[in-house]
Amino acid sequence: MTKSAATQHMSQIQSHLQVAPCAAQEESRIKTPIESMAEEREKATFNVRELTYYLDGGEKFTKVREKFMMELERDPTFRMYDMYDVTKDQIRERTMEKFRTIVHYVSAEPVPIFTLRMQTISLIDPGFWTRFGVHYGLFFGALRGSATSAQFSHWVSKGALALNGMVGCFAMTELGHGSNVAGLETTATFDETSDQFIIHTPTITATKWWIGGAAHTATHCVVFAQLIVRGKRYGTKSFVVQLRDTHTYGLMPGVNIGDIGKKMGRDGIDNGWIQFTNVRIPRTNMLMKHTKVSRAGEVKEPPMAQLTYGALIQGRVAMVVDSGNIAKKAITIAGRYAAVRRQFTSNPHDVQETKLIDYAIHQYRLMPLLAQAYAFHFTGVETNKLYEDLMDQLESTQPDDPTMNQVLDTLKETHATSAGLKAFCTWGTLNAIEACRQSLGGHGYSAYTGLATTYNDFAVHCTWEGDNTILTLQLGRYLVNCYREVITGKTQPDGVSYLNHLDTLLNQGCAVKTNEEILDFDIIQQAWGVVSANVVKKAGEDFDACLKQGLSPEAAYEECSQARLAAAKIHSFGYVFRRFTQAVRNAPEGLRPILTKVCLLYGLYSIEQNAGFFLQYRYFTPSQMDYVRAQVNAFCRAVRQEYIPLIDAFNYSDYMINSPLGVYDGNVYEKYFDQVKRQNPVGQPHPYLPLIQSLLRRDIEDDEPLEDDDDDDE
Ligand SMILES: Cc1cc2nc3c(=O)[nH]c(=O)nc-3n(C[C@H](O)[C@H](O)[C@H](O)COP(=O)(O)OP(=O)(O)OC[C@H]3O[C@@H](n4cnc5c(N)ncnc54)[C@H](O)[C@@H]3O)c2cc1C
Repeated sequence: MTKSAATQHMSQIQSHLQVAPCAAQEESRIKTPIESMAEEREKATFNVRELTYYLDGGEKFTKVREKFMMELERDPTFRMYDMYDVTKDQIRERTMEKFRTIVHYVSAEPVPIFTLRMQTISLIDPGFWTRFGVHYGLFFGALRGSATSAQFSHWVSKGALALNGMVGCFAMTELGHGSNVAGLETTATFDETSDQFIIHTPTITATKWWIGGAAHTATHCVVFAQLIVRGKRYGTKSFVVQLRDTHTYGLMPGVNIGDIGKKMGRDGIDNGWIQFTNVRIPRTNMLMKHTKVSRAGEVKEPPMAQLTYGALIQGRVAMVVDSGNIAKKAITIAGRYAAVRRQFTSNPHDVQETKLIDYAIHQYRLMPLLAQAYAFHFTGVETNKLYEDLMDQLESTQPDDPTMNQVLDTLKETHATSAGLKAFCTWGTLNAIEACRQSLGGHGYSAYTGLATTYNDFAVHCTWEGDNTILTLQLGRYLVNCYREVITGKTQPDGVSYLNHLDTLLNQGCAVKTNEEILDFDIIQQAWGVVSANVVKKAGEDFDACLKQGLSPEAAYEECSQARLAAAKIHSFGYVFRRFTQAVRNAPEGLRPILTKVCLLYGLYSIEQNAGFFLQYRYFTPSQMDYVRAQVNAFCRAVRQEYIPLIDAFNYSDYMINSPLGVYDGNVYEKYFDQVKRQNPVGQPHPYLPLIQSLLRRDIEDDEPLEDDDDDDE
């Protein structure tokens, strides 16, 4: 190399080296995931802590929740870091350990505080929540709802409340029947001579199936069976049957039990099947708050069958609350990840890739789900209040009180509304979990990022305690009846009060002329009122037309079931929006601007998703629907600005979220990698070496070398 060539070469190298400081400078402008998350928090225009207090019902409750989160996180039996890798049998054993820890608090804490503890647990370990809920919610709930006060005291004295000396389960469903409770086949035949009932499984389809806690845990069971006295059938009633000896855990004579095995989720609960072969129980084990059977075999039916509805409402309300809580968890994971995950650059001059959340379509995927989580949260709070007020009224009203009819109307309304909301909110949240999972891309498919398991655990809410389709149809049937009452002049209660204004609502159109005018709670509420009134009227008219054609009421309801389903769905959208607007109006002043944005997004997005109804009933013109669309986009952008503070306000600790992609500080890659590395201990032998060796080292008979095929190149 000549001297000048060498100099040129050196200067080339230097110029290359000079790039390094530039790249370093550029790199210093590249934000780490932690910085990317921190900058989102700076955008808050409201006090996040104040919003947490408002969501929790006050500072006092936030502190209680935080105490629970800390206690659970420090409790080794509630360790969650390896939950995605344990087997069904290990989960079940751990669930039992947790049982022992939690039982202590049952007697130590007042019911509302214990309920909060259980709500916190339901977010961390839904399987355990269910196993515990089977005893307290279903078994004990059935005793409270269906036992006379003397019977109730008897079972409490036997340990039903303290969970001492007995563990309960609840056996309604059979292999052949679930939703159709009247069709259950198990029999309870009264034997006058011995003053006993004989509980019997007459066919294979009468085998009790899916019974939570039956496989290994329960000693006692509330069994639903057909009451037969002196050869006459009186329908399905409930009976307490002992399944196992409480010391040896051996099965009682005539009881046969098995495990129904691995499920889609919630493996912590031991669902089982039960067969009874002429099992004898004392007559007084029939729960007789409503129907009574005397020593002489006289059957007394309850004067007001509707009063039995109350027992069903509690579980449905709990699922509405759980829908809000789980929706908040899912959006916390997807939302936080979207603030730090970067792909491509949306602007060629950007030195750093764009955050997912800065893509308009990602905002459109996630911001309505965040709004829905808020909507479901407030609906849960409000529905819980309605339920408690109703229970107070029921307890303080006697059958001959003049206010009894009004209380019964409220009971019917709450029963129907809670059925519809249970379906509406669990469906909404299940879809939201899956949408959140997909928004994580490939990592959403990893068990460690949490949403796949959350989906599997949550899905059962759409089926148990009333299949969603059937519950929605029940609400539809109630709405048809309300419509028919309104046209005969009867005023309807609060939840369906829009039907009292049918004449004005049915043909009402919207008068707004600009994008801005549509941003009004009253307009959106009226929009839902108008379409709800129309779809309910349509279902009512379809039903009446069927009756006129000579169909029986049952056949007529069946014939108009699609119209009933649509009516219930639209009614529930309007109901949830009303609950949300109420919560915004009641919020502290400093929170109202941000909550108003979220609420408007929820209302407008729901309208956009159901545009067909609003156009069909001419509340909105096509151009007004364009205003709605434009504002949905605008509000996705607006809510995006503060969406991380809105998520932070849910106040779920990293332990509760249990997903490295949803961590508070945004350090997702390191946390995720750490979690995965824990599953790769160093120095372990290959798990299936002989198999893989035998695959790669097979004897190949024709071991001729491959011929050269360069000929083609010549
Ligand atoms: C994990 C788990 C735990 C459970 N734990 C318990 C327990 O502890 N105790 C207990 O008693 N039960 C329990 N169950 C049972 C549960 O309550 C029932 O599965 C549920 O009520 C649905 O009943 P089914 O399975 O018989 O469905 P079916 O009633 O057979 O319904 C099947 C399908 O048909 C549709 N369908 C049915 N009837 C109609 C109709 N008239 N019109 C239109 N569509 C209709 C439904 O929408 C559904 O999609 C549990 C279930 C699961 C999955």
